[in-house]
Amino acid sequence: MSLIIVGSMAFDAIETPFGKTDKIVGGAATYAAYAAANFVKPVQLVSIVGYDFPKEEMAELKSRGGQLDGVEIVPDKKSFFWSGRYHEDMNSRDTLVTDLNVLADFKPKVPDSYQGAEFLMLGNLAPATQLSVIKQMKTRPKLIAMDTMNFWMEIALDDLKEVLKQVDLLMVNDAEARQLTGQFSLVKAAKTILTMGPKFLIIKKGEHGALLFHGDNVFFAPALPLEEVFDPTGAGDTFAGGFMGHLAKTGDISFDNMKRAIIVGSAMASYCVEKFGPTRLKEINKEDIDRRLEQFKELVNFEIELV
Ligand code: AMP
Repeated sequence: MSLIIVGSMAFDAIETPFGKTDKIVGGAATYAAYAAANFVKPVQLVSIVGYDFPKEEMAELKSRGGQLDGVEIVPDKKSFFWSGRYHEDMNSRDTLVTDLNVLADFKPKVPDSYQGAEFLMLGNLAPATQLSVIKQMKTRPKLIAMDTMNFWMEIALDDLKEVLKQVDLLMVNDAEARQLTGQFSLVKAAKTILTMGPKFLIIKKGEHGALLFHGDNVFFAPALPLEEVFDPTGAGDTFAGGFMGHLAKTGDISFDNMKRAIIVGSAMASYCVEKFGPTRLKEINKEDIDRRLEQFKELVNFEIELV
């Protein structure tokens, strides 16, 4: 089953306690697409880049099953540029630069060739932009998922509430879930979010894993304890790509299958953070992914006798 991923394709400059990069390829849709393409093809991208986005990267995405009909190339503008510096603990970062460039007037167009897709992942963009994509779908996808961030809660809360009414699943981090609801307890925050539109909610807690909520059901997936987190950039998008990739591969949107998908997403994210940018995602193959999924099984597998 096919999957549409909407989001930024960008240049990033990253500083972590381990080092610093010049401009490297990044962007939410880029990470999500590299992750998802391990599970489903085509991965139909909707994005925008400038004249400077490397042709080789486009070719690489295509060779892995990315479909690029929905990626607009603006000949006289630069690609979106983001720069961030991570703190010592790698859990928090400061944004140093956000140059919107082409993203400033991004009016996504869903090509005819993408119509009929069963899965839609709306990456972190202006809620009005996310909504415009939903409206262009002639047949409603089986599952629409979205990401968002605190910035949109501050400047476009009404629009955000509108999109929330239209989606099936929201992915946010713990701080965002708290900000959106004003509830400190994540369980209470989840209850509130599940009345705002989405039937499913994923709350990401970085190195502390992720929670999946649906009705009264909760599932927890740990993050793999890694000796070294080299660069967490894109981990959330990679998680989303793995999660949606697994759902699109299986076509099953039950809570039980989402439990598996959240583990797949976590496994992909654990690879993403091992090197700068999407580098590591391009190196791994099915065996690597299976090996890591085994590690996840071992991590949480225990027996207990209740007497
Ligand atoms: P994450 O680490 O999951 O938050 O994602 C980082 C990626 O998001 C980077 O590759 C950036 O290029 C991209 N990004 C950062 N800020 C924005 C933004 N305001 N809109 C769209 N994409 C962004």
